[in-house]
Amino acid sequence: MKKAAVRGLLAAFVLAGSVLEGGLAKAVVSYDLKARLRPETRTVEGSETLTWLNDSGTAAPELRFHLYLNAFRNNRSTFMVERGALASTSARPAEDWGGIEVKSLRVAGGQDLTSALEFIQPDDGNADDRTVARLPLPAPVPPGGRITVEIEFASRLPKVIARSGYIGEFYLVGQWFPKLGVFRDGGWNCHQYHASSEFFADFGLFKAELTVPAAYVVGATGKRVSERANPDGTKTYTHYQDDVHDFAWTACPDFREFRERFVLDDPKVDTEMILLVHRAHLGIKDRYARALRQGIEFYSRSYGAYPFPTITLVDPAPGAVDAGGMEYPTFFTADAASYVPVGIRMPEMVTIHEFGHNYWYGMVGSNEFEEAWLDEGINTYSEIKAMDRYYGGDRSMIDWGGLRIGEIPYQRLSVIGSGRFDPILKYSWDFIGPASYALNVYAKAGLMLLTLERMLGEPIMAGVMRTYFETWKFRHPTSRDFIRVAEDVSGRDLGWFFDQALSSPDKLDYGISDLHAYEIAPPAGGPGAIPGPLEGKASRRLRSEVTVARYGEMIFPQEILVTFENGDKVREFWDGRDRWKRFVYDREVRVRSAEVDPDHRLLLDVNWLNNSRVIEAGSAAPAKFGTGLLKWFQGLLSFLAP
Ligand SMILES: [Zn+2]
Repeated sequence: MKKAAVRGLLAAFVLAGSVLEGGLAKAVVSYDLKARLRPETRTVEGSETLTWLNDSGTAAPELRFHLYLNAFRNNRSTFMVERGALASTSARPAEDWGGIEVKSLRVAGGQDLTSALEFIQPDDGNADDRTVARLPLPAPVPPGGRITVEIEFASRLPKVIARSGYIGEFYLVGQWFPKLGVFRDGGWNCHQYHASSEFFADFGLFKAELTVPAAYVVGATGKRVSERANPDGTKTYTHYQDDVHDFAWTACPDFREFRERFVLDDPKVDTEMILLVHRAHLGIKDRYARALRQGIEFYSRSYGAYPFPTITLVDPAPGAVDAGGMEYPTFFTADAASYVPVGIRMPEMVTIHEFGHNYWYGMVGSNEFEEAWLDEGINTYSEIKAMDRYYGGDRSMIDWGGLRIGEIPYQRLSVIGSGRFDPILKYSWDFIGPASYALNVYAKAGLMLLTLERMLGEPIMAGVMRTYFETWKFRHPTSRDFIRVAEDVSGRDLGWFFDQALSSPDKLDYGISDLHAYEIAPPAGGPGAIPGPLEGKASRRLRSEVTVARYGEMIFPQEILVTFENGDKVREFWDGRDRWKRFVYDREVRVRSAEVDPDHRLLLDVNWLNNSRVIEAGSAAPAKFGTGLLKWFQGLLSFLAP
């Protein structure tokens, strides 16, 4: 009750044009946006009043803005070049390009600075890229000082590409307004828009008045605080949200809107689910709603209560595949497929994943440009756990026509293909290619955390995740901060683990390289060479030799389960440092099988087919690791291993 009252008050102040610190996050920015959608020209005419607080200890002589839509301005932008546009012979038609133009910019109550705005290219020096601009200020903003600027701009929306644009009368309006970077460590962190990267911005208050033709259904970040019909046949919807760092919206006359209240007692959650489903996809609405409920419940129970009053799910129009699966604060787009059979759980997975970004990047505001695993990897880990909980670990990805595949084997395919060139932790645009970025940052990072969970135990890992969320929500943590939390909560030194799994491209692969047994020969030797007690006795004992090998570069302590013919079992431990280690047994019975990582904890191991061997009819052969689909899958995984 109290918090709601504070928020209401805060909203009132912001709407009155003031800036306050409050809410859950420190309000470093405050955006008052106005936008008018003009479908006839595919443009948004916009204005913003932006107030920025210099929350650092250093004076800021300039501001830096993201002008992301310029990534789609021509085929010379860094985004398009990285996408291979220079090699493409099929250019987009002229009307499909986008861009953003700053029409005027002034410091509130001061001079016009429009002509001072200068495009810069801090990442790659590509003079044709116009996705970042600097604004030298007449006077620096001192530490603790504030500045307010008023900007008028026009955003030309591209035909849907990478999270933004239009198709027909469907509009996804993301990355559409001049947005400040993050001022930290004495400078601006404001990267160009790259093909493989997302975003980074500061928390604050966002208010937007969105004017569209009256027939359009609108969804947006935050809560709708008012709507009005205008005499010119348009409607204006006003949305407001604090504690967020971005604002996106959508408009389409073909949406059907569904609203549903979601309430949870422990922890306390009370939010309104708003589903905007394209009329061509109404059959999938219930699946979206169910998965969204599961997502809110899972993340709230696992990490902390979902604190926002709304969550809006957008189902993109047919053909708008590039608009699907994208997250913004309290607002995300689902998978854009028109029909997916029940049992192929892609819509569920995407819904849970994109909702989950409200936690990883939405509230825990890590830098998506520089350390993308902190949002995508942690979110993939969370999404796998949610999918396995609600749909069953053996069928969480596919349960269709007798085919069952859990999400873990599905993601392991990616790890095996993640290559040997890039570690998980790297600037997003510095990966050797988009596949290496995606496989490392999503799947490999997710499975790294699942491996860590199996190493620490589930309750400790749950404590790590909850503490990380609690400590870093509404702030900007780095990988170092995550590792520190993991070490503090577990009480263990984990540097060796993260140095290898996060910062090195090395592969994890252990296996049984040899397993054989033989009868020990009777004592033999020259006269007098045999010690007395052994003379004339056949040993009748069997020697078994188990050789465990490290095929990859990554070093990880190993457990080995050795099973004898009579059913006896021995668990061996090896620090895994050398290239191989041999275990020798002299017993009445021989070893029947040996297996490394018998509990399947090491999900980063790129080849499970070599993990075990069994002696059959006197010879050692690869063990049957499973039956049916699992075996087929492991065969496939093994085939895919480099
Ligand atoms: Zn994601």
